[in-house]
Amino acid sequence: MAKPVVQKRYTLTERVYLVEILKGLGITLRHFLANFAASLKPGPHTVPTTWQYPEDRREISPVFRGAHMLLLDEQGREKCIGCGMCARVCPAQCITVERGKVPEGEEEEYAKRYAKKTFSAVFRIDLLRCIFCGFCEETCPQNALALGPDYELARPSREECLLEKPRMLENYRRAMAAGGVHRPLKPVPVAEAGPAKGGAGAQKG
Ligand code: SF4
Ligand code: SF4
Repeated sequence: MAKPVVQKRYTLTERVYLVEILKGLGITLRHFLANFAASLKPGPHTVPTTWQYPEDRREISPVFRGAHMLLLDEQGREKCIGCGMCARVCPAQCITVERGKVPEGEEEEYAKRYAKKTFSAVFRIDLLRCIFCGFCEETCPQNALALGPDYELARPSREECLLEKPRMLENYRRAMAAGGVHRPLKPVPVAEAGPAKGGAGAQKG
């Protein structure tokens, strides 16, 4: 059953309207003067409402998920092993990874650039399809991939929206130069090896 409509009892000034209109104009004038006075003050932005982007920029959250970065180890070597787990878990299917292997006899040369014996020969993310969910980052067994602070991703062509490996490495270097990667990278959980079934360590009931 429909609820009965409650009739509001208006006061005389509300019924005349004029006083209410003047009250509204007073509020607008108060805000205008406050903003105008604030805009004359020196500062990084015009307090309290308008940020003059791109000159003024807000600080972003440390867990903001922007353009991807491929991380390097302490010796400046790529940590990615090209396993493709990030590509498999990506719900948007926008990651392409091709694994490369260190050729025999060139281990020493490759060891300067790659932390492990395999690496990503191709690593590409289609940012037009990415939903910035962070699954790829969370899945990576090497902590080699992270979503960084870069949010200015508009590009004039579709091709330029393909995030290739050199740009991901550059994103990482830029983030490090700007103060480091602040994401709380999770330690990779490692399952403890239990006793093999029926092996020497197995208990008999
Ligand atoms: S953030 Fe999500 S959608 Fe984007 S590449 Fe990673 S897993 Fe795929
Ligand atoms: S970023 Fe991580 S999950 Fe993706 S291919 Fe490299 S090592 Fe594997």
